[in-house]
Amino acid sequence: MTLVERFLKYVSFDTQSSEETRLTPSTPGQMVFAKYLKSELESLGLEEITLDEYGYLFATLPANTEKEVPTIGFIAHMDTSPDMSGKDITPRIVENYNGSDIVLNAEDRVILSPAQFPELLTHKGEDLIVTNGKTLLGADDKAGIAEIVSAVAYLKEHPEIKHGKIRIGFNPDEEIGEGAHKFDVEKFGCEWAYTMDGGEVGELEYENFNAAAAKIVFKGRNVHPGYAKHKMINSIRIANQFISMLPRHETPEHTEGYEGFYHLVGIQGDVEQTTLSYIIRDHDRSRFESRKREMAHLVRKINAEFGEDTAVLELRDQYYNMREKIEPVMHIIDAAFAAMEAVGVKPNVKPIRGGTDGAQLSFKGLPCPNIFAGGLNFHGRFEFVPIQNMEKAMKVIIKIAELVAKEA
Ligand SMILES: [Zn+2]
Repeated sequence: MTLVERFLKYVSFDTQSSEETRLTPSTPGQMVFAKYLKSELESLGLEEITLDEYGYLFATLPANTEKEVPTIGFIAHMDTSPDMSGKDITPRIVENYNGSDIVLNAEDRVILSPAQFPELLTHKGEDLIVTNGKTLLGADDKAGIAEIVSAVAYLKEHPEIKHGKIRIGFNPDEEIGEGAHKFDVEKFGCEWAYTMDGGEVGELEYENFNAAAAKIVFKGRNVHPGYAKHKMINSIRIANQFISMLPRHETPEHTEGYEGFYHLVGIQGDVEQTTLSYIIRDHDRSRFESRKREMAHLVRKINAEFGEDTAVLELRDQYYNMREKIEPVMHIIDAAFAAMEAVGVKPNVKPIRGGTDGAQLSFKGLPCPNIFAGGLNFHGRFEFVPIQNMEKAMKVIIKIAELVAKEA
């Protein structure tokens, strides 16, 4: 099977994950796909193939050199986003893309246009895999899986390329933030790994947000509005006051790059009680900690004004910036850099304004930066992937394996 054939086969499996079920994998379709992949890895002649009850599929391509080479891994996720259906995906290949509008679905007038998505134009002359406008494509992250499987198949057919032991890992439920939770880092047994889960060609990421969630409950006192003078306390108005105390421009819609924010994600309230839900994000750990302190400080100010326990703050850290785990092992970034340059890809290092499975894995002891898988417009009907992007990602994997062995 070719890289493209693999990709088209993989997206035929409905593996949409779900926040609702509280199971791992969160949906049975992911296990169906995992079993299919397992049989494919067996037929490729890989070794130490294991699929556990949670849907984590690991396999080994054994070393073909006597040299002492560190064991490295490549990881991708099997699920697709809960945001949009991944059932009955009907991909189409637009060959030699000419830069014009692509009608995904004439009936529903769904058009993939460079007017809205100018990044299309950087792929003129390439072959784009697009959707039929009714589902997402699933390049996130089945492009990553196809690239990894094709790369190890290639290495197997080309014994002249010397490499150490390569582990591959496919996990469920990345899109609901659970991909790393039941990932058995010890069993995976790698010195380091890469997730193949980024977007555009060249992306290389090893910095992500530090993340916390905050919930603030404001208590009020409801009284008939006609008799409310000096008696009623309206929790909605207190919550509103709290909202306005936070810096107005430190929000997602006013920040980029390394700028952090407070993001009000939910508000639920009546006179008696109002709850605000925030997420707090910052790449810098000390600024992240001071954002949390600031929030606690503002809650104390509210309580000083309206009385003890008017506002109660609940803070919970969600994940941390992997940078502190990557910095001591920067050679793993250098290897990815060198591999990209060797295959003619310009590395583009940028901070992730979010989290990744790799960040959680890094804190579980497996340093794990993220490399491009090549898809664009994730999580919706406009998702597409240039075939040439996938080929480059596959070459990067092969080259990393080669360089790590060479440098050992
Ligand atoms: Zn992904």
